[in-house]
Amino acid sequence: MRLNGLTGRVITPSDKEYPTLRLEYNLSINKFPLAIVYCYTPTDVSNAIKWCRKHHVGLRIRTGKHNYEGYSTDNGVIVIDTTPMDKIEVNTKNDTVKIQAGARLGNIYSITAEKGYAFNGGTCPTVGISGLVLGGGIGLSCRNFGLVSDNLIELQLVNAKGDLITANNHIHRDLFWACRGAGGGNFGVVTSYTFRLHKVNYITLIQLRWNNISRGKFINLWQCWLRTADKRISCFAGLSKKGIYLNGFFYGPKSEAEKILKEFLLLPGLLDNSLIEYVPFIDAVKAIGSFYGPPDRFKATGRFVYCHLSKTNIRNLIKYIDCSPGDDCFIRLYTLGGKIKDFSSDYSAYYYRDASYIIGITADWEEYEDGNIFKNWVSQVFKYVETITNGSYVNFPYAGLKYYGYEYYGENYGTLRIIKKIYDHDNVFRFPQSIEP
Ligand SMILES: Cc1cc2nc3c(=O)[nH]c(=O)nc-3n(C[C@H](O)[C@H](O)[C@H](O)COP(=O)(O)OP(=O)(O)OC[C@H]3O[C@@H](n4cnc5c(N)ncnc54)[C@H](O)[C@@H]3O)c2cc1C
Repeated sequence: MRLNGLTGRVITPSDKEYPTLRLEYNLSINKFPLAIVYCYTPTDVSNAIKWCRKHHVGLRIRTGKHNYEGYSTDNGVIVIDTTPMDKIEVNTKNDTVKIQAGARLGNIYSITAEKGYAFNGGTCPTVGISGLVLGGGIGLSCRNFGLVSDNLIELQLVNAKGDLITANNHIHRDLFWACRGAGGGNFGVVTSYTFRLHKVNYITLIQLRWNNISRGKFINLWQCWLRTADKRISCFAGLSKKGIYLNGFFYGPKSEAEKILKEFLLLPGLLDNSLIEYVPFIDAVKAIGSFYGPPDRFKATGRFVYCHLSKTNIRNLIKYIDCSPGDDCFIRLYTLGGKIKDFSSDYSAYYYRDASYIIGITADWEEYEDGNIFKNWVSQVFKYVETITNGSYVNFPYAGLKYYGYEYYGENYGTLRIIKKIYDHDNVFRFPQSIEP
């Protein structure tokens, strides 16, 4: 097929870079797109959309490539890659930042921190801003500042007709609402965002580690503690066969953080490499970011927790961890609440605002042949976790969800389908779990 009409940098299977550039961050995804179009301008994006429509070829939208299920690529499609559009401009007069859609978190943190701001983002420096904010976005500042998308003021998007439009609280309000929680790959290709920033210099970085003797106690403490925890603290924790980690940011001094975490510090098995330190915000971000390695093979997902887990629930979770097939299999816990709960479930497309935390299930492996063992483990744990949770986080997607629309968007799904019909009547932007018009 002739690719005339596509602009930007077009990579096809005959290019020597194709074998590398077709890959996602999750190396267990193995797709062969017809071409990858690296877009330098919204016009390149528009040309790609028009070309796909004219030639009846499917498309996928891609930025940081971190989608767990690989929904930013597919076989035989045009991948519209926004990474060449990666400018980041801080406006110190009104404490905002304009970020082009292709930027990744690491650069955004560095550039905003140079001007004295804390960007409210996620933990992995190579995650794309686009997938993160369009799915809601959580991180180690979210109880203090809300979801990543709660700090979004405006976006520009190339729609299904190939037109560049602006959406905010005044223009295309419905689209703006939809893109804050359900925008990943569904309504158009976003080309830029404007975010509110927060002036911050120092915060308290928390990195606590335990051996595996207190896992049951840890989960129980986590859920009880979170009911009344100070909203300035956000934490991500993980439990594996080997032990427990808890990483967090506290927007206040070290002495206060120690008081807030007192009961955790008393849990048996606390390791010597644990630390609580008052550091410049950017150092805290980098310390957490340094845990993420290069791309690997994994299966992962996550569900919203509303209920109090019983002793049996906790025992079962520990049993699943103990029968996991490797050391890199985790039950993870991500705090929600705080500022996220200040808004109602129809404030934006992100529905599950009253959840206390997310339970994540993740398994990483090295050898291709081992994939099924690890995927089966995730699937078994998922079946159990489904019975004690409500709804799935769209940024931790899971192909096995039966009613994915309701699972990701709850009662907002009906409104999202109406908005989809308005902005993408012909369902140009579709993938296995896209919103149906
Ligand atoms: C190692 C790792 C760490 C993570 N940490 C966090 C975290 O701390 N907090 C959190 O909330 N999530 C986290 N996630 C999940 C992450 O937010 C999602 O995977 C997110 O969708 C990734 O965005 P991306 O741009 O990197 O990925 P991509 O795979 O490029 O895109 C993800 C989705 O967004 C769509 N999309 C991409 N660009 C655009 C665009 N310009 N316009 C419209 N749609 C677009 C894609 O089509 C796809 O559906 C993590 C994931 C990984 C793998």
